[in-house]
Amino acid sequence: MTDTPFPSIVIAGGGTAGWMAAAALSKLTPCRVTLVESEAIGTVGVGEATIPQIRLFNKALGLDENALLRETRATFKLGIAFEGWLGEGHEYMHAFGPVGRAHGVLPFQHYWLRAKQAGFAKSLAHFSLNEIAARDLRMQREAMPHAYHLDAGLYAAYLRRFAEGSGATRIEGMIESVERDGESGEIGALILKDGQRIAGDFFIDCTGFRALLIEGALEAGFENWTHYLPCDRAMAVPCATKGEFTPYTRAIARKAGWQWRIPLQHRIGNGLVYASAHMSDDEAADLLLANLDGAPQAEPKPLRFTTGKRRQQWIGNCLAIGLSAGFMEPLESTSIHLIQSAISRFIQVLPKGRAPAATIDWFNAQADFEWQRIRDFLVLHYWANGREGEPFWDEVRHMDLPETLTAKLEQWRASGHIHREHEELFTEVGWLQVLAGQGVEATGYNPVADAMSEADLRAMLDGLEATLAQQASALPRHLDYLQSCVRGNARVEIPA
Ligand SMILES: Cc1cc2nc3c(=O)[nH]c(=O)nc-3n(C[C@H](O)[C@H](O)[C@H](O)COP(=O)(O)OP(=O)(O)OC[C@H]3O[C@@H](n4cnc5c(N)ncnc54)[C@H](O)[C@@H]3O)c2cc1C
Repeated sequence: MTDTPFPSIVIAGGGTAGWMAAAALSKLTPCRVTLVESEAIGTVGVGEATIPQIRLFNKALGLDENALLRETRATFKLGIAFEGWLGEGHEYMHAFGPVGRAHGVLPFQHYWLRAKQAGFAKSLAHFSLNEIAARDLRMQREAMPHAYHLDAGLYAAYLRRFAEGSGATRIEGMIESVERDGESGEIGALILKDGQRIAGDFFIDCTGFRALLIEGALEAGFENWTHYLPCDRAMAVPCATKGEFTPYTRAIARKAGWQWRIPLQHRIGNGLVYASAHMSDDEAADLLLANLDGAPQAEPKPLRFTTGKRRQQWIGNCLAIGLSAGFMEPLESTSIHLIQSAISRFIQVLPKGRAPAATIDWFNAQADFEWQRIRDFLVLHYWANGREGEPFWDEVRHMDLPETLTAKLEQWRASGHIHREHEELFTEVGWLQVLAGQGVEATGYNPVADAMSEADLRAMLDGLEATLAQQASALPRHLDYLQSCVRGNARVEIPA
């Protein structure tokens, strides 16, 4: 322990994870925060689509949304459009925010399922303000839950300025080794290539896929989930903007994976996530380059990953946050959220001295639960695909599912019931949109929904649809709205 009254925290790595941790710890705790990073190594440079929870993080730090939009050249995001997952031409959206409206004791889906089974329900798209507005390229932050598409490099730089302004110290240098206490095994210091010794009470491993501390030094072990999520490569390339910015991410199914499209103010981020067992890197690069909206602005950047997580994300006086903790593909934009939730969970139990074993166990159990439930949600997208005749898609359609997902599916199919357990990230409405969107049929619904006459049910659905369409049509266009938010900066150009 250092002799300061508050713990001294050393963060290894300065990507999105490192700077988010430094920003939060320097602003919200009295700890002394030191971050070590190496420009020679750089960051992973991707990670540009977020989910609405990021606004809680920004709010806790007191970040101004307009400044964030300006500094990170961000656009608004209202959901994710999944294209081609049930076959070419098919599309649905996982939109943020409510779908329909609960009636009496029942959530909306039971009334919708009753109407669907009777043959007169329109798709869920008609009952989500977020989706209606997104499809019509409209946006207003007070009206809808939203997230951002942001430039990953600019976001880390923005957080760095914030963290340094809040008292964090940055040290440029290459970590060469990790010094551990012979008796306790705890980390005592990071030794840099130039000989500097960076000591601290607690160490946060944000070294990305390298996982220098949690795996390199502490050998946490890795739980491999490739059998559930077999994509293991990505190819990323930015391109010029074209047309209006969609206030939603596109996730387009391709031959052996899927392509992301993330519009920013100054470019579009694109990438192909794919399974190397079914597609070569050259084929992936060609496929990606053939499906861009505008001219590529760089060579496609290849990335390799193994899906899964560390067996323990917190060991002794070391916590892994970000890619060092594990990785799940960006299908539902969950990685930055996992960084944020690990930081907030850590702050809840911030140890003054050595953390009790029970606290560490609690943290790791919470993390396991959170990661597993997100994994299940991602697996659902693959397993329920309709792309018959394509080897990759045929394979994932026949995989053995995690028991936790099977239990969810059983309930949905039999009774339309969706249960969100504990602090599971995705809500009932998120599951509903993906289950229905991917064509997983529910054969039942709650019989309480039968208490309403068919005429009343029709009137309820028609009324809701009309109200939402009217609300959406009154919203400003996304581009105009974004422009008004970043006012003071150079104009957000309307792409040709
Ligand atoms: C293909 C792909 C797409 C993604 N898309 C999304 C998305 O849309 N949304 C989302 O939420 N997330 C996404 N992610 C995840 C997201 O990119 C990461 O969660 C996020 O960028 C955090 O990365 P990191 O900070 O953990 O690691 P990195 O960015 O890799 O940073 C590691 C840091 O450690 C430093 N470092 C490493 N070794 C040393 C050393 N020896 N000495 C000193 N410093 C060192 C590096 O210099 C760097 O500063 C995506 C990831 C991938 C791979």
